[in-house]
Amino acid sequence: MCGTCGCDDGSGAGGGGARIAVPHGHANGHGRAHDAHDHGERGETLTLEQRVLGKNEVLAARNRAWLAARGIVLVNLMSSPGAGKTTLLERTLGEFTGRRPVAVIEGDQETMLDAERIGRAGGSVVQVNTGAGCHLDAEMVRGALTALEPPDGALVLVENVGNLVCPALFDLGERSRTVIISVTEGTDKPLKYPYMFAAADLVIINKADLLPYVDFDVEQCEKYARSVNPDVRVLTVSATTGEGMRAWYDWVAEPPGGSFPEV
Ligand code: MG
Repeated sequence: MCGTCGCDDGSGAGGGGARIAVPHGHANGHGRAHDAHDHGERGETLTLEQRVLGKNEVLAARNRAWLAARGIVLVNLMSSPGAGKTTLLERTLGEFTGRRPVAVIEGDQETMLDAERIGRAGGSVVQVNTGAGCHLDAEMVRGALTALEPPDGALVLVENVGNLVCPALFDLGERSRTVIISVTEGTDKPLKYPYMFAAADLVIINKADLLPYVDFDVEQCEKYARSVNPDVRVLTVSATTGEGMRAWYDWVAEPPGGSFPEV
């Protein structure tokens, strides 16, 4: 995992150097950026990988208990860069405004750009910058929730760092996992990145409005996704035009793992 790519080697990410910031006026919590972690071990051995993941599992379980006690549902959105996560979130915020409290945790290596987009869409949001890191982990999400202060009963949507590899390994304490693939990517993505698709509760095929212009086989992609995850739900949408988005709104309002608590 990250012993190979370096994001957990203590060089400033994978926990050690993550920065959490709230765009001015866009979250309930305080607005100062701060370090979220202080660990930073170096190594590439299987033992270290197990230790890193083991620590993450403990922290994810704590997150899950903290969220459950408050009736907060956390959904982890993962994809490669440019699949349309932020656009999907913008449209989702518009749908739920006035219906449910929705908050967003944005994960990127650098910049506040996505958090600023979510803020302009009217959402409570914090940005986690992972530096060299290629995924969010449970401790980063814990820090983000502290800054975000979502109300009881809120839906919290996590936009993970754009990457189809490492985010699959790190439990955040989420209720469910969604993987987004756009039709501008290859039909065979589920076969090339099976761990990501095997860990998903829902696969969204996005940018359906571009299907007439690209070589992408929706039916085959669904078959590939189910070959690594037989029970996975698959939706085809366009977050840009709104096509197919109703099914996503219905799913995220009541994701697997229990019904959405009334507030
Ligand atoms: Mg984004």
